[in-house]
Amino acid sequence: MECKCCGESVENDLAKCSVCGFPLLGDLGDKLPQILSDYRNTLLHDVSLAVKLYYYGYDEDGEMGELKSEYVKVADAPALTHDNIFWLDTVFEPSGIKRTVTLDVRVQNDKTSRDSALSADLGKVPEGGRLGICLCKGYRVRFALGNKKQSILTDSISLLIK
Ligand SMILES: [Zn+2]
Repeated sequence: MECKCCGESVENDLAKCSVCGFPLLGDLGDKLPQILSDYRNTLLHDVSLAVKLYYYGYDEDGEMGELKSEYVKVADAPALTHDNIFWLDTVFEPSGIKRTVTLDVRVQNDKTSRDSALSADLGKVPEGGRLGICLCKGYRVRFALGNKKQSILTDSISLLIK
């Protein structure tokens, strides 16, 4: 069966989803939508995603280089919906001719954070593409690079912080 909350496939005989913990037993009837919404809110309400952005420019000696890098929040988890790519305003410009890129991504809530590095082969993704986020089963997300017509997806990371 499929978990009604996170969409992950789960064993029939479990009392709760092994990914998100949502109860699988019992018929919740008309209350299901409200319970789902409350549960999702408990899991995700303070979770957000940040991406490390790099700033390039000329230093004091007139050399072109990386001036600084910092994590910038790009999305709140509750705003993400299943099966749609949530496109950000962030333009994604890989430097030079490098076609394999690494995205440094941070999942954070009020108490803690978890960093991951996601690599992607840009292949035929057009230049000047944007960054997008796609919510998948099990409250995992993939980052999309490209545009609405053509994009590639990175590996997935979990939005759930335990
Ligand atoms: Zn679940």
